[in-house]
Amino acid sequence: MLLCRAYADSAAGDPTVGAAILAVIFVGALISLAHDRRRHPHLPCRDCGGTGRHFSAWRPKASGRCQTCGGKAVRRRRGSGVQ
Ligand SMILES: [Zn+2]
Repeated sequence: MLLCRAYADSAAGDPTVGAAILAVIFVGALISLAHDRRRHPHLPCRDCGGTGRHFSAWRPKASGRCQTCGGKAVRRRRGSGVQ
């Protein structure tokens, strides 16, 4: 790998090469996270647990549409770009 060769060729104790390697890893992780958010833009709704239903406190079998997600059972993932 190019990074390993750059690190091996650098003078011992040079912090610039290590910082550059860490910066490349960090930027790569950010790009990977952004790509994952685009490909998987939804998460299960927190309030209904991904069921899309809201159950009554008085009658356990009575249910209605979840007010938070509107019955879709999913919520938008932050930074996904989906409305
Ligand atoms: Zn919900």
